[in-house]
Order: sequence, then structure tokens, then C-alpha cells
Amino acid sequence: MKKPKRIFLAGFRATGKSTLGKILADKLNWSFIDLDFLISQQEGGDIGVLTKNGTDWTKFRKIENEVLKDVLGLKNVIISCGGGVGVNDIVDEKSKKTFGQLNQETLKNEENLIILLTSEDKIIKKRLTTLFERKKIMPFINKSNALKSDDEKDGERLVKKQVEDSMYALTIRKPLYQELADIEIDTSNFIFPKKMVNLNVVIGDPINHSLSPLIHNTAYKVLGIDKSNLFIPMKVKNNNLKQFIEAVKTLGINGISVTIPHKETVIKYLDNLDKDAKKIGAVNTIVNKEGVLTGYNTDWTGVVNALKQKTKIKNMKVAVLGAGGAAKAIVFGIIKEGGRVKIFNRTEEKAGVIAKMFDCQFGGLDEIFEIKDFDIIINSTSVGMGNSEESPLDKDLIQKNQIVFDVVYNPKETKLLKDAKEKGATIIYGTDMLLYQGVEQFKMYTGLDAPVEGMEKVLKGELK
Ligand code: NAP
Repeated sequence: MKKPKRIFLAGFRATGKSTLGKILADKLNWSFIDLDFLISQQEGGDIGVLTKNGTDWTKFRKIENEVLKDVLGLKNVIISCGGGVGVNDIVDEKSKKTFGQLNQETLKNEENLIILLTSEDKIIKKRLTTLFERKKIMPFINKSNALKSDDEKDGERLVKKQVEDSMYALTIRKPLYQELADIEIDTSNFIFPKKMVNLNVVIGDPINHSLSPLIHNTAYKVLGIDKSNLFIPMKVKNNNLKQFIEAVKTLGINGISVTIPHKETVIKYLDNLDKDAKKIGAVNTIVNKEGVLTGYNTDWTGVVNALKQKTKIKNMKVAVLGAGGAAKAIVFGIIKEGGRVKIFNRTEEKAGVIAKMFDCQFGGLDEIFEIKDFDIIINSTSVGMGNSEESPLDKDLIQKNQIVFDVVYNPKETKLLKDAKEKGATIIYGTDMLLYQGVEQFKMYTGLDAPVEGMEKVLKGELK
């Protein structure tokens, strides 16, 4: 992937393409172009001229395709595309291909980065209703609707119909957009700053569940720096990770939080790797310093700092349940702090691999009865997630004098933590790990001390 020369913002109407496009262009000192504006220029008027009496869609799409080709002659531009670019089904008589296909062929080029903007359906619906009511955007025109659009009496019914038509088109276009795009950004919960100085993101697939935007944007607000900082979720598919990393440099993204499934695979695209992240073999934090990308791991500091609020770690006997991605950072952190670890896992061999990496004990679940003699129990299995009401540990094995830490954070209070509470043990929530790994990231991204209390409060309010 070459350094992108053009960024195309694709996606449905009312997803923030123009707003984000202008802010990004301002940040990068690039030009911003609205494709619909160029199309109307070709016709010597505004877009309303083309649509007033019902749109001649073949003519419209033909001009759109020509304009799109012209734009490829430009560089350092951000182009906001109309909703049908790359996904419409109007057939070009000459090539027998749809203009959607022709546009895709034009767009898919190493020098173009295609960012898809999405929003939740209910939010698009609400935004569209407002826009149609104010006649701010052109309707999905068929001739009869267009002719009626000046009829005041029929206005309400017409707005409803236009919104319905649009939402129907959206369901058809959604998968096509996703095929077209290199990166996807959900703008549902965005409050765009007027001018963007620092842009930070969290990447993963899926990504909508991530609480990182909430934590970081809250911290910006608490410190009064939300006018110049924005933290957004970006969905990056496995096969687009390399492109994304190149885009980080072009877009000047400052900090990148990384979640499943990229924590390990992203390492090969980075310029530098911190020594702790190297030992763990996973990165959850990337810092971009003048185009040089360095990978770090703050998951282990998240665990250690969450524990330190309740206990010392040195010389404590710590049982770690599970031997997946999270376990590696946890075991690394505890051992670094002088704790004595034994890993228990359903698949004993996997526990053995991590034990070998960090020089600690391990066993299978047949040895789990030993857990009674440990000071600290940390669950890093995914058991207890969602509404499962399952626990990775028999309640009878939990002792009153133990500290039980469940890194699962959804639900906040898992069955394991409920059981531990009932047994009188000290509990630590998974949200604490989330909080402290974020606190560390915040400092790395902004250079400022994180407002821990505010971040904690928002996490508490968000989760049940
Ligand atoms: P992972 O790599 O998929 O590992 C899952 C682990 O759970 C494996 O050791 C697996 O055992 C074990 N497991 C799954 N189902 C099991 C069952 N029915 N009985 C016994 N063991 C079972 O997942 P991960 O990335 O480590 O994440 C694990 C959990 O930590 C997730 O809930 C994740 O959300 C949470 N997490 C929280 C934070 C935070 O900040 N609080 C950070 C990272 C992760 P096998 O090896 O036998 O398959």
C-alpha cells in the first residue's frame, strides 16, 4: 500500500461525510471536495436543478462517474461521495456494467483510501427525517414524488415516504459499502469538535461494543480539551490492517488502541516495539510520533494497577484461570511485580505454553481444588460473559480471605464475583482493568495525567 493521496468518504446520507471530511481536511491541510457539488457544477447549477422534476438517474450516474475519474487527477484531497457511489445499480448502456461497478473500479486504487461512515439505523432515520423536513437534501426521486414535493398539504406523508425509501435503500447498500471500504467508522455517538488537533482511535472487528471512546472522550471533557481532541472507533477487517496502518500516518492519527483480533497481527506493521509488549507478544496501544509507530501493552499495567488498589502483589500466590490472549498480559504483569503464579486452564497444553514463556507453574482443571490455598484468583477465561450466569469456579472453592478478580467486564458483576461476594472475599471488577489500561494510554496519547475519577464514574454509569 502506497501513502494515500486521496481519501474518499463513502456511505449513506446523514452519516457525517461532509462534517468529518471538512474537519479532517482542515487538520491535514488538504482540500475538501463534495462530489455532488462537482456534479451540479457540470450541469451549471445546483443539485436541485438535476432533481427537481424527477432525476434522470442514468444521466446523473454518468456525470458522477466522469467527475469521479476527474478527481483522480488531484492529490491531497478529501472527497465526500454521494450515497450511491460504488453501490448503485443503474446500468451503463456502453459497458453493460452498473455505474456502481464502474465507480468501484475507479476507486479501488492503491493511492485511494476509502473510509465508510456508518451510523445506527435509528439515528440515520432521525437525521433523515429532519433533513427531508427542511428540504436540505434531495429526495430519493421518482417523478411523481418530485412533482408533489412542493405540495404543502402532502408534505408530511411525503417526508415519511422518502425516509422509508431511503431506509430500504440502506438495507440493500449496507453490505456493498462494506465490501468497498478499507476502514469503517460508526459516527452514531459522535460529537464532532469544530477543529481537530488530536485524533485517537480504537481499532478492532467487531468494534461497536468498545468502551474506549467513552472513557477517553470523557477524560477530554473533564480536562476541557474536548474541543481539540476526538477518540473514535474504527472497524478494521483483518485484510485491511496493513492499509489502516499506512492511513494512520497520512491521517496523522495520534494514538491507536487495539483490540481483538489485531493485538498480535498488528506487530509486524509497526516500526518499534516496546520490550514488555515484545515479551507478551501482543500490543493494545500504538503511539504515532512524527510518523514512527511504536507498539506498547498497557493490559498488564491495567491488571497490576487494579490489583494495587486492594492488595500488594509481591510474594502473593496468584491463580490465573485461562490461557488466552488476556492471560499472557496478566501473567507477565504479576510476575514482573514479584507475584507467584500458577495458570489453570481447560486445555492444559496452552497453559504450559504461557508458563514456559514467563517461567511459572501450570495445570489443568483437574488441579483446580488447589485454588483454595491461593491469595489471589484472577479469571481470564471468557466464562461468565454476557448473560450466561456461569462461573469458571465452584463457589465452595472460594475462601473469605481471598481476592477474586474477574477480568470479564460485561456484565460488570459476573456470577464468579457474586459468589465471591457471598463468601466474604474481596472482589475486583473487570472494569478496573479496563480503566487502568485506559489511564495509561491516555497519558501516552496526550502527555497529560488522566482524570481517573471522571473516567471511573462514566464506566460505572455505563455498565450494569
Ligand atoms: P481468549 O484468547 O479467547 O481465551 C479464552 C480462554 O477462556 C481460554 O483459556 C479458554 O480455554 C477459556 N475458556 C473458554 N470457554 C471455557 C469454558 N467453557 N470452560 C473453561 N475455560 C474456557 O480470550 P481473551 O482475549 O483471553 O479474553 C478472555 C476474557 O477477558 C474475555 O471475556 C475478555 O472480554 C476479557 N478481557 C478483559 C479485559 C479488561 O480490560 N477487563 C481485557 C482483555 C480481555 P481453552 O484454552 O481451553 O480454550
